[in-house]
Amino acid sequence: MSLRTKFMLALLLTGLAAVAMVGGLAYVGMTKKVDGLRRERAAEQFHEAVTAYMQKYGDWQASPGKDGFDQFMAERQVGSRPVLSDGAQDEQRRPEDERRAREEGRRPPPPGQGPARRLGEPPFRFILADQDYRVLLGAGVYEHGEPLPEAARKDARVVKVNGRIVGYVSPEGVITPSKQELQYLAAMREALWYGVSGAALLAVVLGVLLSRSLGRTLSHLTGAVRAMHGGSLLQRVPVEGKDEVAELAVAFNAMSEQLARTHEELQESHQTILVQAEQMRELSVRDALTKLHNRRHFDEQANTLFSHAVRHKRPLAMVIGDIDHFKRINDTFSHATGDVVLRQVGEILRSHMRLSDLVARYGGEEFVIAFPETELPQAAALCDKLRNLIESFPWHQVHPELKVTMSMGVYADVAAGTAEAMLQKADALLYRAKETGRNRVCFAVA
Ligand code: GH3
Ligand code: MG
Ligand code: MG
Repeated sequence: MSLRTKFMLALLLTGLAAVAMVGGLAYVGMTKKVDGLRRERAAEQFHEAVTAYMQKYGDWQASPGKDGFDQFMAERQVGSRPVLSDGAQDEQRRPEDERRAREEGRRPPPPGQGPARRLGEPPFRFILADQDYRVLLGAGVYEHGEPLPEAARKDARVVKVNGRIVGYVSPEGVITPSKQELQYLAAMREALWYGVSGAALLAVVLGVLLSRSLGRTLSHLTGAVRAMHGGSLLQRVPVEGKDEVAELAVAFNAMSEQLARTHEELQESHQTILVQAEQMRELSVRDALTKLHNRRHFDEQANTLFSHAVRHKRPLAMVIGDIDHFKRINDTFSHATGDVVLRQVGEILRSHMRLSDLVARYGGEEFVIAFPETELPQAAALCDKLRNLIESFPWHQVHPELKVTMSMGVYADVAAGTAEAMLQKADALLYRAKETGRNRVCFAVA
């Protein structure tokens, strides 16, 4: 169920309950109050009328009878106050009342005491008894002449003529609402219905307005949370008003900003860590002096190259080169000159490698090279070229008497079994190069 529907239902129920409670209580209270006042006033009038009637005729027996009392009442009412009900209409209903009473085994109600009122009658039926509590007018409740029960006598009012008790009037009886009173109650009911309809309309309008403003902020918040979930952490929702929802929007904006800032800082430090990790990795695989890869890196990569060559039956050549009489260079020209030589030899080797080739300083003045996709003659030729480049480098620019050469061993048969075994074969060939005069390339002929 949508928020709007819930709001409207809640307001509708509250409105209807309030109207029903206040209106209903007012209606019941008013009806009761009006009823009580009417009964009191009517009882007073009936008592006055009976007293006046008795005064005029002495007592009930001496009077012209019941119709005479009705007549007396009619004349009294017409003469003293406005007509309360539609007499003609009541006259039409009167024979009907009598017939119904006869069918029910009751005595027809005496004139002036039936449920329908006649011209000038009070809007009720009261009970009249004589001084000995014998019923004169039974109001359809008691038979004429029967004694008034004890319970009814308690509330009966005395009718006195010249200080003598001539009868009792009991307020017991049936109240017949007047046309005006019925109209009045109908108007109250109508007002109650108007109240209920007004409350319902108000609830719907308020529900729509309230849910619209609340729903707008909430839908902004929902959209923003979805966007954050999608990766856009910096979100801003509009803040409307100063209620709790507005506070939620303000708190959300602050949280989003904080999150975005923290995320940015985290990304920056993550980037720094990545760069530093890369630098560390580079340092760990590089030789500090020549900037070539080191032995550890070469061994790892050589194994990979070897496996690839074996699996795909591709050629692979392994080379070890060693600077001739390097100790002498150090001793003759200084250790610093020896370092310059190492760096320069490293640079010559690096600058003549293909991207797929692997060159490293293996330790001291020894260098290793792996030539993937390279047969032995090709590798041997390449090494001789490198040997020549080293020999012909203008070393005299470093020192006038400096001369540098390199001996190399080349091995290119993966049948050796491992990259390490191939290197050992190459090392044996290097040893042969040293043995046979240095500044040369030795390789195994298959
Ligand atoms: P051979 O021709 O038989 O290879 O003789 P060699 O003198 O080159 O070989 P040897 O193993 O006797 O000497 C290697 C020298 O390299 C010993 C060592 O002090 C020197 N050396 C090793 N590392 C470095 C370095 O990083 N810088 C310098 N300047 N010298 C180094
Ligand atoms: Mg050596
Ligand atoms: Mg050497």
